[in-house]
Amino acid sequence: MLLVLNATFTMNAQILQGSHWTARKVDDVYIVSVQDKSSISEALTDFAVSQKIQAGEVTGIGAVNEATLRFFNPATKEYADKVFNEQMEISNLSGNIAVEEGKTFLHLHITLGRRDYTALAGHLLDAKTRGAGEFFVRPVNAKMIKVKNNDIGLYFYDFSK
Ligand code: FE
Repeated sequence: MLLVLNATFTMNAQILQGSHWTARKVDDVYIVSVQDKSSISEALTDFAVSQKIQAGEVTGIGAVNEATLRFFNPATKEYADKVFNEQMEISNLSGNIAVEEGKTFLHLHITLGRRDYTALAGHLLDAKTRGAGEFFVRPVNAKMIKVKNNDIGLYFYDFSK
């Protein structure tokens, strides 16, 4: 009986594939694997666009050897970027998916563990996997639009749209 169930389950499992990622949907969740030596932001954006996900939550773990973090300065309304070129563990990546100016946009934050076990954290511009990249994406059935507030210099949810 168990064998029959397993066979059915395997046949129904649909493997999704895109630029530098593979994924499988289980219930309402996508499990996404980003390839070694690949851009996390590009791969996850390609995944969201290909699956037509316009709102949702992203979480993940893995390892990278290059990461660009940005820090927003509200006084200047500008981001300062800093690149870290070293092997680091993604102890947590969390973020959300929305639409900004008609484009699917992932807002991602990351906590990275260094070789000496201290942590770096911040807003993630992009990072390159070196090792695994394991992500869970939970879409919600909606299109969430963010609009730029020029007084503040950031995009905010506009729930009226
Ligand atoms: Fe941010």
